[in-house]
Amino acid sequence: MEKGLVVITGASSGFGKEMARVFHDAGHPLLLIARRTELIEALNLDNVMIRKVDVTDADAFQSSVNEAVAQFGPVDLLINNAGVMLLGNIWNQDPQEWQTMINVNVSGVLNGTRSVIESMIERESGTIINISSIAGFKTFTNHAVYSATKYGVHALSETLRQEISGSNVRVLVLSPGAAETELLSHTSNQKIKDDYVVWKDTMGGYSMDPRHVANAALMMFSLPQEVSIRELVIAPTKQDN
Ligand code: NDP
Repeated sequence: MEKGLVVITGASSGFGKEMARVFHDAGHPLLLIARRTELIEALNLDNVMIRKVDVTDADAFQSSVNEAVAQFGPVDLLINNAGVMLLGNIWNQDPQEWQTMINVNVSGVLNGTRSVIESMIERESGTIINISSIAGFKTFTNHAVYSATKYGVHALSETLRQEISGSNVRVLVLSPGAAETELLSHTSNQKIKDDYVVWKDTMGGYSMDPRHVANAALMMFSLPQEVSIRELVIAPTKQDN
């Protein structure tokens, strides 16, 4: 049987890049979204559409989905993966950094969801996997706003799941622990970054290969449509919190 279209946001690095590889190898046509599309091109995957889209731009997101649907058919899976983590403390962090996290981590997920959801409900088929975090259900020092956005991802996902469960559409949350991606690199506070590296030393200086998270997403998706792993937490065995 022909495999359905998979849309992955944040496909230029980290989890998204590994997911692109894993779902490509599983035989799916892909719409891969990020701003640094040259990094996606470098993956050299066939049967893909690559679009330079900022997930905070709802119209651009919708247009790219429409274009991919016209070429490959309806969206079978959307992975709302794009995200930013700008660690800091509320009393001294630039509010612009809060806004960036809220825009990308929450509005980006909403924009993606809106671009596929009506069609999924009509077809009574489809899956959305939202990438949250362990910081989406417990708190960590320096993570106040990041955590607020990821708690938000949990909340909007579970609400949507309840609302549309009758239409057979799956809304799943995948919450990773610490992994070896570019995520921390955008934090502007050097002391917080240094402390994070010290914490990572408790795991032997290496956290989790993003490949495992990509495989977990494929596993969640690969179950029959009638069954939902509503939430999955995946973390390095040595992560202490
Ligand atoms: P990376 O920084 O490696 O990847 C983030 C991806 O998001 C990049 O591809 C980036 O692409 C994309 N992105 C960021 N902002 C935008 C935007 N405005 N529009 C479109 N794409 C954007 O980090 P991860 O792979 O770790 O992050 C992926 C997800 O996993 C995030 O939601 C993160 O919160 C979550 N997560 C990560 C954990 C970790 O330890 N690594 C743990 C738990 C959750 P580009 O810059 O090219 O646009």
